[in-house]
Amino acid sequence: LVSRKVKPGDTVLSIGNVRVGGEVPQVLVAGPCSIESEEQMDATAAFLSARGVKILRGGAYKPRTSPYGFQGMGVDGLVLGSSVAKSYGMQFITEVMDTRDVEIVAEHADILQVGARNMHNFALLREVGRTRKPVLIKRGLSATIEEWLYAAEYVLSEGNSHVILCERGIRTYEKWTRNTLDLSAVALAKQETHLPVIVDVTHAAGRRDLLIPLARAALAVGADGIHVEVHPNPATALSDNEQQLNFAGFEAFNAAIEPLLRRA
Ligand code: PEP
Ligand code: MN
Repeated sequence: LVSRKVKPGDTVLSIGNVRVGGEVPQVLVAGPCSIESEEQMDATAAFLSARGVKILRGGAYKPRTSPYGFQGMGVDGLVLGSSVAKSYGMQFITEVMDTRDVEIVAEHADILQVGARNMHNFALLREVGRTRKPVLIKRGLSATIEEWLYAAEYVLSEGNSHVILCERGIRTYEKWTRNTLDLSAVALAKQETHLPVIVDVTHAAGRRDLLIPLARAALAVGADGIHVEVHPNPATALSDNEQQLNFAGFEAFNAAIEPLLRRA
């Protein structure tokens, strides 16, 4: 169902006031790694919406390496994220980690995110497939392109065709970056499927100094959007404080990729 052989034309998703895929302007998905407080979300949404960003991200359920790391605000975070997004006319995307949470997350989010660590969670893929919410599927840390596309197939096979693929880097022997951004996967996913494909430069790079060149490369290779983490004060962030951009950093990032964006 994901194949271009079945559906030659690009799938263009309409999510509230945003369209993703095909020839429409590429989207920016931005916001903090974790939802931490009302002040943090409000400041971020005010800043980003004023710069034309229409999709606000923020994790309420966090897949942390350590069980003692900040695990997210849960339902309080969902309520906060969705109300702040709504008040700025933005769409809210957040990760769902557990089949038991799909219903509550779908109640608050405009887009459900399946994280890299859950890309192989077939029960979760089926469950989000039974909703009619747009689903963003991150590529697993060690997933082949074929496995990633089959993850999308799980969602479509349940009747939900609103799927966005997201390349976020894969784990290799390289240590100077957190992950290795696989741009061939972006080009191939665009070629093989009709689905929108976006690139998460933050989790791919794991360091701020590479975000601009990676985003420019992603757009050059045909990505339908860029995902980047932005926090009012990354140094104090409860997760991913090495790689989130502050507001000045986002201004520079936005200016650097602007010339590569299609216009409305
Ligand atoms: C995230 O986007 O918050 C996240 C945890 O990303 P990934 O699943 O790609 O590691
Ligand atoms: Mn993060």
